[in-house]
Amino acid sequence: MSRRTKSVGSTGWMGAKYGIRVRRRVQDVDSVAKSDFACPKCSTLTVRRVGSGRFKCRRCERTFASDAYNFRPPPSIFRVEKTEETK
Ligand SMILES: [Zn+2]
Repeated sequence: MSRRTKSVGSTGWMGAKYGIRVRRRVQDVDSVAKSDFACPKCSTLTVRRVGSGRFKCRRCERTFASDAYNFRPPPSIFRVEKTEETK
């Protein structure tokens, strides 16, 4: 199978427009946004971006709020887990 987009990747729809710096920036953000993240609840790589700042786990069906494109586990979850461990 031949690769349709050689180096432009997910920014192929932009064509030659917007300049290389902008296209590379979009590609960087896209590659992070489209990847799987570790679920803070069931610790599997099943969390995907479903919308701006919204991430959902395909295994336990939980939805998390995070950055618009990057997933950072909510700190409140870790705080709760830590207090439960110390009890
Ligand atoms: Zn999960």
